[in-house]
Amino acid sequence: MNVPLLDLKAQYATIKTEIEKTLLQVADSQYFILGPEVEELERSLVSYLNCGYAIGLSSGTDALLAALMAIDLRPGEEVILPTYSFFSTAGVVSRLSGVPVFVDIDPVTFNLDPAAIERKITKRTKAILPVHLFGQSAEMDPVMAIARSHGLKVIEDAAQAIGARYRGGACVGTIGDIGCFSFFPSKNLGCFGDGGLATTKDPALAERLRRLRVHGSHPKYYHKIVGGNFRLDALQAAVLRVKLPYLETWSEKRRQNADAYSARFQEAGLARHDGELDGGPVLIPKAVYRDCSLPNYHIYNQYVIRVPDRDKLCKHLDRFGIGNAVYYPVPFHRQECFAYLNANDSDYPYSNVAAETSLALPIYAELSTDQIDFVVRTIKEFYR
Ligand SMILES: *Cc1c(COP(=O)(O)O)cnc(C)c1O
Repeated sequence: MNVPLLDLKAQYATIKTEIEKTLLQVADSQYFILGPEVEELERSLVSYLNCGYAIGLSSGTDALLAALMAIDLRPGEEVILPTYSFFSTAGVVSRLSGVPVFVDIDPVTFNLDPAAIERKITKRTKAILPVHLFGQSAEMDPVMAIARSHGLKVIEDAAQAIGARYRGGACVGTIGDIGCFSFFPSKNLGCFGDGGLATTKDPALAERLRRLRVHGSHPKYYHKIVGGNFRLDALQAAVLRVKLPYLETWSEKRRQNADAYSARFQEAGLARHDGELDGGPVLIPKAVYRDCSLPNYHIYNQYVIRVPDRDKLCKHLDRFGIGNAVYYPVPFHRQECFAYLNANDSDYPYSNVAAETSLALPIYAELSTDQIDFVVRTIKEFYR
């Protein structure tokens, strides 16, 4: 049995005729950049996410970059962010000559530890940039409280988490000042190339983001600010408009798959919960914070376990045709390009452990229970 990490063709097969029709319509219109398709998508996403404004952008990375430009991040100003994330989260700060300031993650959820934020705040701190990693909301109440009491902006990296909800309430990306999303093909809502989105409740920030998207011009050819080419194109918007109505069902399927994995790891005697010293070798992901009984609505862009002998297990899974990936092997504080920041490695124990033990398993919506059984059986063999 072959179990790919992600099978985009399986999903495409279910919507092929709708997609083909819409692609041909865009071709007939010969209207490619922004325009009515993008506007319609933005309207649908405002109502899906229940946010004030949604601005279609060229990628998730550009959404983060435009967001930091919109809050006017200046050279030398600091942005506090988790050291354990995809590179974009820190890269965008550096690209604007800002200073990324790293905090460790919560050992259970992989998201930034709110208790680590306050001691990193200085006179130069401009913003906090929480990431909703793997499809689960960061712990936003304390993040927002700290930000408000210090007059900081909050930019949410929701690239992996469209439709995820904080403690079952607000959608991620609508809690801070600006939310940033990615439509990279492997995200829960993926387009046929690169695409992204920024959301905000603030009409002034929305207007700034719209201008930044077209080189800062308003009206055309008149520039009060410098922006970039951050535009979403009509073909991507058209694809996303077809897919959006299916998103909740796809994410529900991912959640069921996650539950199925966790139940099977338990039945097989492999599962361990956080804080347990006995139990099996596989630390299964959890959708709840330590001091809270209200679970997050986790959309499982990734199902990430933590295991001993991770690299050997990867090879074992490869041999059996089971897709797997390490997100992320090197936290920011250990990246060569950030060596100049002189971060102290021992400040980040949980990120370091995660980098050494985390392993993503196939979780896409079309995965079958037979495939899940096979993955768990193969892991059981490895630890026997
Ligand atoms: C995918 C991703 C991004 C960047 O999105 P792109 O559309 O690939 O530029 C940013 N942050 C996180 C956490 C991501 O997973």
